[in-house]
Amino acid sequence: MILKSNSNTNAIKNLLSSKRKIVITTHINPDGDALGSVLALTQVLTKMGHDVVPIVPNDYPEFLQWLPGNRYVIDFYKKKKTATSIITSAEIIFFLDYNEPKRGGDMCEALTASKATKIMIDHHPNPKMEVDYQFSYTDASSTCELIYEFVVAIDALEFIDKSVAECIYTGILTDTGCFNYNSSRKRTFEIAAELLGYNIAKDDIYRRVYDNFSAHRMQLLGYCLNEKMVVLPELKTAYMAISLAEQQRFNFAVGDSEGFVNYPLSIKGINFTALFTEAKDKIKISFRSRGKFPANLFAAKHFSGGGHLNAAGGESQLTLDETINKFNEALIDFNTEINS
Ligand code: 5GP
Ligand code: MN
Repeated sequence: MILKSNSNTNAIKNLLSSKRKIVITTHINPDGDALGSVLALTQVLTKMGHDVVPIVPNDYPEFLQWLPGNRYVIDFYKKKKTATSIITSAEIIFFLDYNEPKRGGDMCEALTASKATKIMIDHHPNPKMEVDYQFSYTDASSTCELIYEFVVAIDALEFIDKSVAECIYTGILTDTGCFNYNSSRKRTFEIAAELLGYNIAKDDIYRRVYDNFSAHRMQLLGYCLNEKMVVLPELKTAYMAISLAEQQRFNFAVGDSEGFVNYPLSIKGINFTALFTEAKDKIKISFRSRGKFPANLFAAKHFSGGGHLNAAGGESQLTLDETINKFNEALIDFNTEINS
């Protein structure tokens, strides 16, 4: 029980011993682990008697909107004024599943200015955020796994119920690709087993997350694999790009390209993949790798990004074509560097 032994635990128990105004935040473009951890912790702290508001930087896919407690989430992008005022009056702010201010998107300024006690719970490497209490464990499969440990550590296990367990399970499921990666440690499965003890609808959760797409999304996937995938066998790399025009053509909705970046990794000999998605103001890039290829270092060095060894992201202010050209050049340099 890693968090139990963390010296911050007692201080946090003290902090939570009287009713507090708490804000729980996560990173831009929230995924299953981000939402799962925010909603699980929101429910636990609310049941403990605190006044808790979950705030996310922007919208998230429909396949996460069934999560228990979803209706309480405030989208900062849509409700800047309300959200900023809640952040300003908060006594405690949690930062879940991110470890650098920039990842808070437009919330960054209000969060940095806040005088609240700041607590980070995260599993990404190299924290770059000033907080009062940091629970940063890169060995954990997901932030949701850490939320379970955190709840145990603050002696609040009694507040975990089926709804909380479903949120935590969803984050573990999505961040491990259904227990395929980041899940080789025993503790991840022990926690998953504990969660099953709350009678969660395990198979329904899978269905809601992975079998909840539109026909357009499947058509876009087919189109990308058939017409957009570029394979560079000599660099063990494959990539795809989706322009705004293509998004329009396939009625693109938030989350529709989720998971696309993983497909080319199934090609024999490929150990690095990228997905470029054009947005109005930037190109968003997802990277995935197998084995030792450091997707996060590549993202940080060339595309102002970061993440985990095998799952990272970044962005570019160039055009889509220029970004792809830069990627091709950067990849050759990077391979030379890491192989020398
Ligand atoms: P995804 O490709 O699913 O958007 O992100 C994969 C991983 O990379 C996640 O762990 C996420 O936190 C991280 N990541 C994605 N985009 C960025 C970014 O722009 N900056 C940083 N530092 N990390 C990112
Ligand atoms: Mn995560």
